[in-house]
Amino acid sequence: MNKIDLKNIKEYLNKEITVKGFVDTVRDLQYVQFLIIRDNTSKLQITIEKNEENTKLNEIVSSLSLESTIEAKGTLLESPAVKLNGVEFIPTQIIVTSKCNGELPINYKNPQSSQLDTKLDYRFLDLRHAKNNLMFKVQTTFVNAMREFLLEKEFIEIHTPKLIGAASESGADVFEISYFDNKAYLSQSPQFYKQMAMASGFEKIFEVGPVFRAEKSFTNRHTTEFTGFDIEFSYIDSYEDVMKLEEELLIYALTKVKEKYGDEIQTLFKKDIIIPQKSFPVIKLEDLYNELEKRYKYKIPNEEKTDLTTEAEKLSYKFSMEEYGSEFLFVTDYKPEKRPFYHMRKNGMPQGYDLIWKGVEITTGAQREHRYDVLKEQAEEKGLDKDVEFYLDFFKYGCPPHGGFGIGVDRVTMLLLGMSTIKESMFLFRGPNRLTP
Ligand code: ATP
Repeated sequence: MNKIDLKNIKEYLNKEITVKGFVDTVRDLQYVQFLIIRDNTSKLQITIEKNEENTKLNEIVSSLSLESTIEAKGTLLESPAVKLNGVEFIPTQIIVTSKCNGELPINYKNPQSSQLDTKLDYRFLDLRHAKNNLMFKVQTTFVNAMREFLLEKEFIEIHTPKLIGAASESGADVFEISYFDNKAYLSQSPQFYKQMAMASGFEKIFEVGPVFRAEKSFTNRHTTEFTGFDIEFSYIDSYEDVMKLEEELLIYALTKVKEKYGDEIQTLFKKDIIIPQKSFPVIKLEDLYNELEKRYKYKIPNEEKTDLTTEAEKLSYKFSMEEYGSEFLFVTDYKPEKRPFYHMRKNGMPQGYDLIWKGVEITTGAQREHRYDVLKEQAEEKGLDKDVEFYLDFFKYGCPPHGGFGIGVDRVTMLLLGMSTIKESMFLFRGPNRLTP
């Protein structure tokens, strides 16, 4: 690659080089022109004196529209008076590689000036904002760190199909599509195939891939397509082994993000990345409701206490900070009617958890039921045994005890950077009313 990243520009002092980027600002003064270009890494000042020798360059700059892309050949000089890195670039040639035609439909530099929907319509411009740019560098580092952590432990990365023949799990919230002369569905979770890998003796696997949910949710944290980071591993003793792995994984990934981007996140998002300590606090759902009632007078009907309501999730953040000084809280002992049939149960109690970060669920994890007869019975109880016959087969011929969890990448990005909605923490949001761009 022969493009020089502007953040490394100082390596090229006094050398003849070519620089490339978007035109960020132009100041066309009486005796001099200042042009700031921007790439994905930094900005650079290009200085052109107005004189006869520079007539051609001066003309190009005078007619340059902001947000065009250019290439400039010239020399980089040290110039302590220049605010941008103390250097300026003196060009001998400027080529406009792409002209920005007219005014931008949104002023992406001032996000407050446009409605969210308009920003989403012009997401390709919205993403030019330095914050958005940083967001995806942070997400890359976060996801990559998780991958690194797992590869170190010799997990295998798998890629499961997203086109499936039977509605998985419950059938209620999958997208149906036509598939030649038949119907197919978009996968709402890699759950069954992750477990198939356990039956195949893979022992430790993960997958990063799209997840589809046909839910008409209009919250700040639901989308109809998101990226799931899913993990499954064998020979566990209980779901506590699953929680322990998740804890270590998150501590590792957050540490990597903080090391690499902590300062920039502080500057642009005014957020501190807090590295959690082992072990994250754990509380039973019922005990949590009792605490919320005792401390904050939060009251809901008993029949709703089988699951954590959105409001209770939010309050649990307050509780967790007050009681444990922790942004993370594991909640266990959900009632079986609110948990999938494949969660193992002990004395009727599902052996799983939700992980709440800053008052929002980011994960469901569990020990899975690996005993064929029990699993079949639990599927029947939910009226699913016919739909999941192919899945039940995985457990007929030996399958080790196992468990796992799934993290919503876009939701985590939202929470990590303190964004107010998932619509702005995904590359492109998909919702009940949005399928474009
Ligand atoms: P919720 O209760 O928030 O709707 P869920 O219980 O349906 O979530 P799971 O099926 O357990 O979630 O999915 C695992 C993780 O995937 C969640 O903890 C969350 O981080 C993420 N997730 C789930 N549904 C969505 C969605 N519609 N949009 C974005 N992320 C989601």
